[in-house]
Amino acid sequence: MNSITLKGQTITLSEQLIKSQSLSTEDVATILGLHARKLALYEELETAEDFSLEALGRELREVEYALQRAWKFPQSAKYHRFWEAPRCACPKMDNAERYPSDLAIVNGNCPLHGEIGYE
Ligand SMILES: [Zn+2]
Repeated sequence: MNSITLKGQTITLSEQLIKSQSLSTEDVATILGLHARKLALYEELETAEDFSLEALGRELREVEYALQRAWKFPQSAKYHRFWEAPRCACPKMDNAERYPSDLAIVNGNCPLHGEIGYE
């Protein structure tokens, strides 16, 4: 079972990538659990009070790192599509165009990333 459906959104993991990374059934379960956590955080962000957005942004970043560890990839923020998070005010097109990049473009007024940056 390499997919989960949550709130009508289905996430399917690449069979090929699971093989090439030699992932176990437990690894796959961990990854699916992290995706569930990420979707829950996205949902939480939609309605969260302003004061908790920065903490949720940090938590989301930890989930992204945990996903990279679970996939047995090196941990690197350059592969996080952080601008896709709800309430993020960082430039979406500029970041998407240069993805993956060591030079993330962060809006200083972004409630998630403005204070802490993204790396
Ligand atoms: Zn942002």
